[in-house]
Amino acid sequence: MTHILLRHRDIPDINTLNVYKKNGGFAAFKKAVTKMKPAEVTEVVKNSGLRGRGGAGFPTGMKWAFIDKNNWPHYVVANADESEPGTFKDREIMEGNPFQFLEGVAIASYAIGANAAYVYLRGEFWELAAFLDEKIAEMEEAGYLGEDLFGTDYSLKIYTHLGAGAYICGEETALLESLEGKRGQPRVRPPFPPSYGLYGKPTIVNNVETLTNVPLILANGADWYKSMGTVDSAGVKIFSLSGRVRKPGNYELPFGTTFRQLIYEYGMGIQEGRPVKAIMPAGASSSLIAVDDKVLDTPMDYAAVRTLGADLGSASVIVLDDTVSMDWVVNKTIHFFKHESCGKCTTCREGNYWMRNLTERIHSGKGTGADVDLLLNVAKQMQGKCLCALGEFSTMAVVTGIERFPQDFKQAVRSNS
Ligand code: SF4
Repeated sequence: MTHILLRHRDIPDINTLNVYKKNGGFAAFKKAVTKMKPAEVTEVVKNSGLRGRGGAGFPTGMKWAFIDKNNWPHYVVANADESEPGTFKDREIMEGNPFQFLEGVAIASYAIGANAAYVYLRGEFWELAAFLDEKIAEMEEAGYLGEDLFGTDYSLKIYTHLGAGAYICGEETALLESLEGKRGQPRVRPPFPPSYGLYGKPTIVNNVETLTNVPLILANGADWYKSMGTVDSAGVKIFSLSGRVRKPGNYELPFGTTFRQLIYEYGMGIQEGRPVKAIMPAGASSSLIAVDDKVLDTPMDYAAVRTLGADLGSASVIVLDDTVSMDWVVNKTIHFFKHESCGKCTTCREGNYWMRNLTERIHSGKGTGADVDLLLNVAKQMQGKCLCALGEFSTMAVVTGIERFPQDFKQAVRSNS
């Protein structure tokens, strides 16, 4: 299949300006600025069915249309704070196909009337930030960024900004706080960023993968994009496949590809030919799905994965085989969330602290059946009471792990129960 996002795998040196231009680069941005009204650009993206690729899957064009047109200036922020354990797709896009991503940022900016856009990168991406700075400078030199673009009165600057290495800054309002130079903690919502975002001004925050789709949607039309994928989830998705598969990696595939195809055709099956026991379809924030043939044959789109009691999220598919005990998985995920909880709300700060203590006791063989019950109780008590998705999703592996794999937890506490 020809790639739409990971085009560097088909076209050598597409990360250079000349090669990108020779392959149609910036034609979509030029078309938008010179021939289309901002609302028309938004309409094409809306009609394409593109949904946000950062995890929530919110319709992108609809989000752009929500921008408050009575309050200016507007901003676009590209969320490049890729931090979900198991997710490693945005980095490959930015390294391999940076101009298509930046062109997506530029088109989004034009669509919402922003003259400044920011690429917020996780702190560990400092080399990538310097690389993007070079690409932005090349675009400025070539007249694709700056003042009076393509002979119009539209102007745009793009800036990169490095975070300080906190997972919570992938949450859009924590990201905005961090970008403003404050401590990266989520805001109470509403108001949402399209009405109250960066510096209190209307802002659209989109994920890197989402924005990278936009130039080709504008170039080829909404129907072209909608012809791929499923009715619920249009287009293509990069699935970051990891865990016990033989060939982990990023696979750009149409929505609707089944778990079986991803794991066995693209991932070459499980190491040592062992059976798949569980799947986390959305990285560490994911519910644990107990795997059988029905699960393996489920098409991967937002709606179908929900029928399995999980979310597709950012589609970072972690595959676990029968050598893995779920009490170990839960212990690992809770260590992560305990460390990354920003501490702003009590439920998440204290809840993760106690869940960490309990999973530690259970996993180290010192726990009892009562500890497992208490762990489940704490996780369920937290649900619906956290300020942001970090706290909510920190409970997912705990609840689904205990409820769907009770034997693993019985085994972990057997000597004390
Ligand atoms: Fe911070 Fe956790 Fe509350 Fe989110 S849920 S605001 S990460 S303490």
